[in-house]
Parts: sequence; structure tokens; C-alpha cells
Amino acid sequence: MVRRTAAAIQRYALNLVDTPAVVLLYHRVTRLPADPQLLSVEPDNFYDHIAWLKTNYTLLTIDEFTTLVSEGKKMPKRAVVITFDDGYADNCLEALPILETLQSQALFYITTSRLDARQELWWDDLERIFLLPDSLPSSLDLEINGRSCHWPTGTKKERTNTYHLIHPLLKFLVPTERDRIIGHLLQWAGLDAMGRPSHRMLTSQELIHMHRSPAAVIGAHTHRHPALSALTKEEQREEIFRSRDILANLLQDKILHFSYPFGGKKDYNQDSILLCREAGFKMTGSNFYGQVHRWTDPWQVPRILVRNWPKARFARHLSKFFIS
Ligand SMILES: [Zn+2]
Repeated sequence: MVRRTAAAIQRYALNLVDTPAVVLLYHRVTRLPADPQLLSVEPDNFYDHIAWLKTNYTLLTIDEFTTLVSEGKKMPKRAVVITFDDGYADNCLEALPILETLQSQALFYITTSRLDARQELWWDDLERIFLLPDSLPSSLDLEINGRSCHWPTGTKKERTNTYHLIHPLLKFLVPTERDRIIGHLLQWAGLDAMGRPSHRMLTSQELIHMHRSPAAVIGAHTHRHPALSALTKEEQREEIFRSRDILANLLQDKILHFSYPFGGKKDYNQDSILLCREAGFKMTGSNFYGQVHRWTDPWQVPRILVRNWPKARFARHLSKFFIS
């Protein structure tokens, strides 16, 4: 509480000196039976969010915002930018039509390894392995990074605990090792490697459709969604440049935007920033709490995670960033 108040006072002081902008971070717009990672916003709520922004804020286009942030210019009053991470199919099926109806624009950062694939992203696989089944083998033995792990998985509580323990361990593995473990876990749980339709990622055709719409700008988000800080510089280069090149070839356009997978300050490093500059991106998105000022580093733009909030809660949350 004390920390939150101190942060609010600091925000207020900074806002007196310089008008802020806020970059919102969404992942999915859909209705799911369960959403343990809280990544989905229901379509009705998303519509209300964007309609509220249109009426009460200055929704910037991605071009406008990129120029302002990369040139360190003063933001317009009550400026807000919409972004999405990962590239779920619902970005095209649910979010895009709402953005189009409300004449708004969002920046979509895409993980390219899952384009046209029927496999889920690894954290969604973990969810269906540990949280959805009614029964699993009574224990799990696994070697992760040379460390032998043994977890009981007989009860729902044990499975939930295991899920929460494995998640951070897999996050910092190199993608090949992470994928090997996920493959092993799917087999152990008796599940198909092909994922749920509800957790499908975009197809190439859907992405091309989005790119043609004035409501979408497409950016990269690596090929296999690793925590970049866990990789060597050359491995990072492969992930960053590969996603840029796949998108550029598919869309026949330059890819000017990138966001760091996970995006916390421990999830990327100085090499990641240097590589993004080398790749020709104009701006990169992070995922830590904060507003954008004239002095904000365009290579680490803070973003605010949006949850499945009804309009009133969304409005309240956003108003904290602005002196009205
Ligand atoms: Zn992501």
C-alpha cells in the first residue's frame, strides 16, 4: 500500500513535468472456459475498452507514437497506444473486427514458429498437461538443466503445485530443450501434441489479412518465444532476425517493431537491445509497469498489462496514469 502510494505520488510529479503516454498490452480477445494465466479479455469487455479510449483518450496510431517516442517528443494529452503480444488466432478473428469498427489501430507482435501450426505455445501446453486433466500418473520424474526433479502429481493440488514449479524452470531454457521437455510431458500425460482449437495461433492467411487492414500493424516477437537473456548473443540473433525475416517475406513489407518475449527487465539484456537496433526496428516493447515520457528509452518501452476488466475497472485503472 505504501509502495503503491509512493508510486502514485512519483507518477503525479513526473506528469507535472511531462505529459505521459500509456502503452496497453493485450494478448487475447476471446471467451475461455478457464484462463489461469489471465491472458484473455472477453470481446464485450474489449469493445468497451476501445470505445472508452476513443471517447476519453487520444488513441495514437503506431506511426505517430513511434515517431514521438523515438524522437523524444512531447506526447499529446491523454495519449494511449494499443499492443498485442504472441499472435493468437483470436487477434484476427475477434480483436481486429472490433478495432476496425471503432476505427482504431493496434500493434500486433507475432511469434513466428507457431504460424500455421496446430501446436500450442508452451505455457498453454503446460496448462493442459497439469491443470485440465482429472487424473495423471501419480508422480513425475524429470531432468531439467542437469537437475533431477521429482514431483507428486496424484492430486489436483499436487498438479497445480507442479505446474507453478515447472513454469519458471522452462521459461529460462533454450527453446530446443524446452520443446523436448514439453514433448516428453505430453507423452507422459497421454495427450496429443496437436493443440486445442481454442488456443490456436494465427495462420499466414489471417496474418496477411490483418496486415492489409488499417487497424493492424505487424511486429516481431522472436521465432520460438524464449527468454532472450537465457541465450547467447548468436542464439538471440537467430531468434530475433528469423522472426523479422519470416514476417517480412510473408507480408512483403519491412518489419519495424519488436517486443521482448515475457518482457521483464530480467528477460532480455544489452545484447538483445543491440540486436534490435541492428535489425532495423524503430522501437521495442518491454513488459514492465510504467508510463512513457520524453526521456523514455525507445528500446525498452514500458507497457501496462490489461486484464479481463469490465469498463468501470478499466477506466479507473487507466485514469491513475493521467492528471485529469
Ligand atoms: Zn509473448
